Amino acid sequence: MSEKPSDVHATRLDAVRDRARALGIDHLVISSGEDMSYLTGERIDSHERLTALVVPADGGAPLLVVPALELTGPVRAAADRVGAVLRPWSDGTEPIPLVAGALSGRVAVSTALPALHLLPLQTAVDGEVLLASDILDPVRAVKAPHEIEQLAEAGRRIDAVHARMGEFLRAGRTEAQVGERITAAITEEGLTHAEFVIVGSGPNGADPHHDLSDRQIGRGDIVVVDIGGPLDTGYHSDCTRTYAMGEADPGFVEAYAVLEEAQRLAREAVRPGVAIGEVDAAARDHLTAAGLGELFIHRTGHGIGLGLHEPPFVTAGADTVLEEGMSFSVEPGIYRSGEWGARLEDIVAVTADGHRALNSGERGLRLLSE
Ligand code: ZN
Ligand code: ZN
Repeated sequence: MSEKPSDVHATRLDAVRDRARALGIDHLVISSGEDMSYLTGERIDSHERLTALVVPADGGAPLLVVPALELTGPVRAAADRVGAVLRPWSDGTEPIPLVAGALSGRVAVSTALPALHLLPLQTAVDGEVLLASDILDPVRAVKAPHEIEQLAEAGRRIDAVHARMGEFLRAGRTEAQVGERITAAITEEGLTHAEFVIVGSGPNGADPHHDLSDRQIGRGDIVVVDIGGPLDTGYHSDCTRTYAMGEADPGFVEAYAVLEEAQRLAREAVRPGVAIGEVDAAARDHLTAAGLGELFIHRTGHGIGLGLHEPPFVTAGADTVLEEGMSFSVEPGIYRSGEWGARLEDIVAVTADGHRALNSGERGLRLLSE
């Protein structure tokens, strides 16, 4: 993966170092995963073999400890971008001392560091070992304009898949058959792959974690379709629309209208300076006032970027203060067990005075005739 501004990784590394110093952390250990992608621009995956970027908070050169057989172009590019010294290790030797030997003082490790490496590392260092999430998460949560554009592009592509839903979602097909067609469309629209495909028809829609089944979709069913995939730069899309097959029960139509308004109110609550819990409250209070609060059984949303689900989380009472550049989903849903589910999800980015929706497809209940 590559990104446009050449100094973007230097800027990110500086921001992370500043925050580490402010929190009294002397060294960071970043393992393969989204934190590594964010800092180096490369998704380095060395499976069970240890790859770790050791970053001194004081501004000294980072160290990139990497399996010798991974010394390929992307790893060298990653090291160049952050000015890291490469420290390869060969099978049959121990990488932990290479990392531990570079550490002193208070150490913070990225959340993706496997226990397989964390436990020996803890034994090998003298001081305290903490999680680096307090350092990385707030930096990653505030997106630069070029990152917002990546999320917007991913959003346009997933919107294009929803716009074609009439081709895929037909009465008589099973959820799995519909899911296969959606999966193909996600790559046709230029996303690298389908990260997830949820087609929850009828009672299956009432399970927010349902993905696909062999249930045949019938006339009159309500169908929740939640889909997403990343661009080749790693930035994700995630969008839910709810469809009605041919006709919908009037009681459901009424409930869906309340959900649509709850989601609009939550989006309208997004602006800098507001606690993120207020966004959750805007949706939840509206549903509760209409007697549907008990059917809304999850948080309102999650941050999105190089991670599909990342901080900040839009949870009741959460006190993260919104800043321009934060991006997250707004996805209230209602679930009537054994009958139906409905969810409406858009990605939004916080702007100087409100929000920008990064999905633009029709939000109302879409009737599909077979
Ligand atoms: Zn979703
Ligand atoms: Zn989501």
